[in-house]
Amino acid sequence: MFATLSDRLTATFKNLRGKGRLSDEDIDATAREIRVALLEADVALPVVKDFIAAVKERARGAEVSQALNPAQQVIQIVNDELVRILGGETRRLRFAKQPPTVIMLAGLQGAGKTTLAGKLAMWLKSQGKQPLLVAADLQRPNAVTQLQVVGERAGVAVWAPEPGNGVGDPVAVARSSIEHATSKLYDVVVVDTAGRLGVDEEMMRQAADIRDAVKPDETLFVVDAMIGQDAVTTATAFLEGVGFDGVVLTKLDGDARGGAALSVASVTGRPVMFASAGEKLTDFDVFHPERMASRILD
Ligand code: GDP
Repeated sequence: MFATLSDRLTATFKNLRGKGRLSDEDIDATAREIRVALLEADVALPVVKDFIAAVKERARGAEVSQALNPAQQVIQIVNDELVRILGGETRRLRFAKQPPTVIMLAGLQGAGKTTLAGKLAMWLKSQGKQPLLVAADLQRPNAVTQLQVVGERAGVAVWAPEPGNGVGDPVAVARSSIEHATSKLYDVVVVDTAGRLGVDEEMMRQAADIRDAVKPDETLFVVDAMIGQDAVTTATAFLEGVGFDGVVLTKLDGDARGGAALSVASVTGRPVMFASAGEKLTDFDVFHPERMASRILD
């Protein structure tokens, strides 16, 4: 992912090499090329507009620097702006003072939530935590089994509906999981919720009901980086319907253009917190905006 964007930006910077102070024309021409590169990568238009305005303003105001030549200065500015749209500093998961910390996963069906639950569980274990996964996705027939399989692979317990344990009612399952986690001293509860293929009211209402029942410390919006501009519209709908604290980008291993996923943090004002780039449970890490920007500009 981001290979084309990376190539286009690198080519743009090449044109600036060997130049002395940049004229306004140089800056405008460069800004135009960056604009095209971002739009071709599928970055959302309002994000591109802000990005370009910031690059132009900063490039015009840039002092002649001893340390950086004009090309390097522009690269630095573009780097800073990429970091900014991705949410700025690395945003780490916040653990509740009083365990269990409750993390709720929300997003469309197929976004990668169930897989992510397993990845997050593995990661939490590596942080010395004892997580409990909760199967509150009762929409898809296989979702509970899938979470159980993922839980087994990750070596963590799964709370799933059983007779007397709220069969068919995801809100009841979610609520009872918190009681269970509290009594059994789990540190973190990860609640997997149902998604649909598209945004719909019923799904939003259910997710909001689960949210009200479990009062998450962190709600993570999970989005497939391959879905293009729909990533932005879906994120906006979830922000309004359910609300969330951070974004998880999945399928970054795909070869789609990915710019829409890069826009989600900027459009929603919620940082990207984790990224997932593969189907294995270990293909997952904390998202560092700076590292992603450097990778794109490498
Ligand atoms: P859910 O409906 O949101 O729970 O999504 P799933 O966890 O079932 O994932 C949907 C599909 O995407 C599954 O086939 C996963 O194996 C796959 N998947 C999840 N995350 C990734 C990822 O980071 N990369 C790739 N290539 N596939 C992924």
